Amino acid sequence: MTDNRSKIMLIYTGGTIGMIENQTTHALEPFNFDHLISNVPKLKMLDFEIVNFQFDNPIDSSSMKPSNWSEIARVIEKEYDNVDGFVVLHGTDTMAYTASALSFMLENLDKPVIITGSQLPIGEVRTDGEENLITALQIAAARDASGHQVIREVAILFDNFLWRGNRSTKQSADNFNAFHSNNYPELARIGLGISFNLDAIWRGKPAGPLNVHPEMCADVLVLDLFPGISEQQVRYLLSTPNIKGVVMKTFGSGNGPDDPWFIKAIREAVERGLVIVNITQCSNGSVLPMRYRNGMELAQTGVISGYDLTSEAAITKLMHLFGQGYSSEEVKRRMEESICGEMSSSISTGRLEIL
Ligand code: ASP
Repeated sequence: MTDNRSKIMLIYTGGTIGMIENQTTHALEPFNFDHLISNVPKLKMLDFEIVNFQFDNPIDSSSMKPSNWSEIARVIEKEYDNVDGFVVLHGTDTMAYTASALSFMLENLDKPVIITGSQLPIGEVRTDGEENLITALQIAAARDASGHQVIREVAILFDNFLWRGNRSTKQSADNFNAFHSNNYPELARIGLGISFNLDAIWRGKPAGPLNVHPEMCADVLVLDLFPGISEQQVRYLLSTPNIKGVVMKTFGSGNGPDDPWFIKAIREAVERGLVIVNITQCSNGSVLPMRYRNGMELAQTGVISGYDLTSEAAITKLMHLFGQGYSSEEVKRRMEESICGEMSSSISTGRLEIL
């Protein structure tokens, strides 16, 4: 499956995988890349070349910023023609955000970008880091019968599964199987072997050479509805200075309260030019705006549907589109279309079609 001549770049950003315990506080802290590599002597058994890049300061991924995503994207851009694929070592906390952001930043990607990390540091006896790292490298080096890389998209490898990056969510703070994609099948299942799900893997033909878009605009917010949310709270959030986009997490298939003040506050925000994207709070399923009157009233205010986007994909997609300088109308149009497999398309019957 792998090719002797494969050359994979390992990008180390931080995360538990490379952390060690502080002797005084006993808290886990990021540590350096050499420590990580020295704990995986098996890397020498792999039959391909590994080259490394490490962030100047490895970080806990809860400190990730859009500027860090841009830095990763720029490294990939710089090394793209020199290597066959990338493995990004990353903390689990914001891994799904980074995976989603990179998927939008790396237009025309035709090589694997596999993001992985671990729940236990690599120096610990029961670590999951060694297996995740080695499997991620093997997936990045995997070729099909024609010699092309099997994976040509941003994906998350964790424990037994490979998931599309912009469909993934961290589902557990303590299980080794920490990630899941609730609305899209796995790209590969890892057992005794690595079994690729060819029907689910991205097969879009790149329209041109890699085109990296490192610009992100973070003027976005999340409005998470709950029974009892007040007019004051909603209006306060929607009038945050300089805000351009809001991801609104609604009930069930895209419903919110039908109180006149709520509909009015949302309509006024849309009329001011705010892009409001409706996604569901449910971990599985899609917004179906015409299914219930409450959802329909929301859609009639000009709120757009994010269908089955994850929260991570919705936020980073808004950041990406505003980062490109598009007008609100253009952002709305593009939010309802899949860019790189992040959402399913809705058809009028309310059923879902996988793109
Ligand atoms: N706090 C860590 C991080 O995201 C957790 C992990 O890596 O699992 O960097």
